[in-house]
Amino acid sequence: MRNLTQELKPIQQPKSTAVRSGGTLPRQSREGNSILHLQRTIGNQAVQRLLHANAEDLEVNSSTLATGHFAHDFSRIPVYHQAPADEEGKTSASLDGVQASGLRDLRARVSRVTGIDVGGVPVETGDARGKRAVTHEARVTLGSEATEHDVAHELAHAAQQRAFSGAWLGADALERRADEVATVAVSGGSAAVAAGRAPTAAILGTGDPYSREAITLTQPLAGATVKDFKDQLQLKIDSGDITGYSISGVKAGDPQEMFLYNALILLANKQRWGSELDLVTSIGAGKGEVTVRFDAAGKAEARLVGKSAPTVPAAFAKAKDASDAIVAKYKLAKVTGEHGRNWTIDDLNKVLAAWGRLSPAEAVALEGYVLIRTDKLSQNGESLQGQTTHTDELKQRATQATHLREIRFADSAFAADDKSFIGDAADAAPASFEILIHEVGHAFEAKPYDDVNAPAAVDAAKANQSAATAHAVQLAANKAINAALRGKFPKQDLASGQPLLNAVLSAQKVFQAFEESPDAANDALAKKAIADRDAVKTTIAMGNKVVIGLATALTEQDAYFAALEKLLAASAAAAASRAKADALKSGSNTKRLQAFIDFVTAEKIQPPTAYAAKHWPAEPAEFFDEAFSLWKNDPAFFAKYSSKLKAWFDAGNHLK
Ligand SMILES: [Zn+2]
Repeated sequence: MRNLTQELKPIQQPKSTAVRSGGTLPRQSREGNSILHLQRTIGNQAVQRLLHANAEDLEVNSSTLATGHFAHDFSRIPVYHQAPADEEGKTSASLDGVQASGLRDLRARVSRVTGIDVGGVPVETGDARGKRAVTHEARVTLGSEATEHDVAHELAHAAQQRAFSGAWLGADALERRADEVATVAVSGGSAAVAAGRAPTAAILGTGDPYSREAITLTQPLAGATVKDFKDQLQLKIDSGDITGYSISGVKAGDPQEMFLYNALILLANKQRWGSELDLVTSIGAGKGEVTVRFDAAGKAEARLVGKSAPTVPAAFAKAKDASDAIVAKYKLAKVTGEHGRNWTIDDLNKVLAAWGRLSPAEAVALEGYVLIRTDKLSQNGESLQGQTTHTDELKQRATQATHLREIRFADSAFAADDKSFIGDAADAAPASFEILIHEVGHAFEAKPYDDVNAPAAVDAAKANQSAATAHAVQLAANKAINAALRGKFPKQDLASGQPLLNAVLSAQKVFQAFEESPDAANDALAKKAIADRDAVKTTIAMGNKVVIGLATALTEQDAYFAALEKLLAASAAAAASRAKADALKSGSNTKRLQAFIDFVTAEKIQPPTAYAAKHWPAEPAEFFDEAFSLWKNDPAFFAKYSSKLKAWFDAGNHLK
């Protein structure tokens, strides 16, 4: 009797089956929109900052004024720190060793020369933005090297900004006039010098075709006449900020007229050429919709689109009814909230009205999504108004695919609705409609791919399950074979039974290789191995103890072979559905998105918004979504922006 020492070693479960998780899953796509951030910060603070950068800031430039030839030592001119009650967070310091009386005296002299009271003008030391002194919004800031003449010059600028009458002057004329005033005031002369009037500084723009800035415009000066506005606009033309202007939607003499002129003056700036803004802004009694548009040649137009803020039909009165209707209409998984937020009836009515602009072929992309109201969103440090997550993911060896379809909207998605709108007279809507449709664009461009990628991930999970099953059966077969190998057999039975033992061992090794690579070639080898084994068995006498001892091993090995045949089928099915999904991709983009990319690239069409431009070309879906949303929400703008791209959408090319 002898003991067979050859032990069968199990193979490790292959690290990955023929269907690997890497092949099953699209990178997680989390996309959103960040205009919010811009809109948040573009408020007063940013407008302030933009104003600071404006050329109409009045300043003393060291290159144009020599220093050190003044009769008075500036240290004797008192500058005191007046903590402005109306300005937060700004600190300034008084100069050392100076007395308030000197400044009061200089203020009085400038007031006398110009006839404009500058006695209350704040004068402080601080950041003069690289100049010796600056005056902004009738507030004088002195740098460390400011002279007495500088102070008088800046006070003259304050007078120009406060003047309610007199000629509107351009930048150069304002500087010359301020110097004339300062010279007389410093010398103590009593001659009168007309200060002139400084036009309002413009708010700088970003130059994108459609501006989503939510700007709060300052009110027109009280008592200003239409002639005042036209004089200021003429200065804007003279200085090249615009080449012409017009207003529409009002009749001459309408009370809204001056608000349109005021908007033009505030926004007139070369950086806005080729750009459009839709603002909800004061038009006197209450707010109205004003579109300000600058054509590529610098001609500005302000149009009164509506005499009230845009409204949304109150389709439902209760949030529950509205969310039930949205779920039913778009076959959503559900409507819900997170992080202490939930959908209000107003927000849901906006969703209903915005999504009502989608065609059935577009809206079908929403099927299966969870609609989530959240507090805030961000990605890579960028604040987002909305975010769409569409993921079908399978981890290595996992037997369950992750399937996610979620659209989120943050507080910020709705935050600008009282400051800006989108559309024209016939279709004006709250600004939030832009992001509400933008996010649908993500679901839409990915839908054909997602629809086949989801089952591909499920098939890959099934293949992984088959692989796990086959591996478990392999271990059971190994165990049975090893148990038989350790058995003790009569010498003559062992001699005649040895060929069957060898055939079982060799078949098991062929099956292990088949498990590692479940393909047709290994399948053929496995079939041959099991046939060879069975053929050997028929040559051995039935009563042979080795044959009897191998009975369980043979049964387990048959089960292993059967499991491998199932693994082969599952792997082939997974590979086929993966190929089907891959066919709908072009590189990392879906084919639907790629068609858009190819078109805008060939036609050299620029992104319509700053957000789209920021993400182009690295994240082309953002360009697509912004274009899709503007095409839906503001077709009049879209036709001016790109008639070619409008025709592309109108013809349904995005649906292919
Ligand atoms: Zn996006």
